[in-house]
Amino acid sequence: MAFCTILGQEHAIALLQQVLQSTRLGHAYLFYGPSGVGKRLTALEFAKALTCPTPLPDACDACPACHKITAGNHPDVVCVGPEGTSLRIEHIRAVQHRLSYQPYESQRTIIVLDGCESLTPPAANALLKTLEEPPESALLLLVTGKKDALPLTILSRCQPIAFRPLAPAHMRTILRQQGVEPHTADLAATLAEGRLDTWLQADMAQRLARRQDAYLLLRDHGHPNETPLFLLARQWAGSREQCEAMLHWLVLFCRDLVLLQVTPTPALYNADLRDELVTLAHTLTVEPLLSFFTLLSQLQQYLAQNVNPQLIFEQLVLHLQQLFPPRV
Ligand SMILES: [Zn+2]
Repeated sequence: MAFCTILGQEHAIALLQQVLQSTRLGHAYLFYGPSGVGKRLTALEFAKALTCPTPLPDACDACPACHKITAGNHPDVVCVGPEGTSLRIEHIRAVQHRLSYQPYESQRTIIVLDGCESLTPPAANALLKTLEEPPESALLLLVTGKKDALPLTILSRCQPIAFRPLAPAHMRTILRQQGVEPHTADLAATLAEGRLDTWLQADMAQRLARRQDAYLLLRDHGHPNETPLFLLARQWAGSREQCEAMLHWLVLFCRDLVLLQVTPTPALYNADLRDELVTLAHTLTVEPLLSFFTLLSQLQQYLAQNVNPQLIFEQLVLHLQQLFPPRV
């Protein structure tokens, strides 16, 4: 890999190459933007470009230093990420300990700190001390998918590098490079909202199956006996993740159905199901859809606040049947 292999982040890479060519390298940069668009990978390529003996602004990808960084065993490029759900003070203390030594093989010690939104308050305070008085040889690359979750005191000490959602064409290329078969790659590129990780980390077939469940729930809301509603209920209620996925798809379907009511040829999110959605839209009206949309946002908030998925599902079915009375 090298900068040239990262797709869809030309703006961020141009900025980093300017930094590489200037004589003034900062001590801390914040790589922020949606998750799964290549921030961590770009941070590693930045570290590589700074460590590789080849003249800037890109790494050669062939020398021992580049190989070590790619393999994750360069002694002066240290990657730290959350364990479980948080980046804790032990992680930051380990970083501080490493920074108290001089670099072993290169001019600087580069720390890539991934998942910074999950810093606990004590960890954030400890990190702030390092950012306030960084050792001369230290470079910190903070990576986050949720910039707003970071304390302003930390944000103000980092130079920001913004990342954008991936364009569908780039996603398609990356997925195909990873061996995903063309039809699935096309579908994922359209549905993943520019975030590759959501489709690479989880089983694509499983995601599409959740989408089908959400569609069936909307389509057959008036015929609970004909749908595997209660079977689905048992599945979703057992898992927060499933419940989250279901609400996500229902929101997207709801959006598409509202668009079909108000404009003749809308750009649908679930464009591959256009015919089915047009038929479904004919059986519904706008007001209940908008109320359902509001309900879904509320339920997403409840889920984020740790409300039991079973309760959320019961609310969902109850309101679904009130908003869209059974068809005769
Ligand atoms: Zn190199």
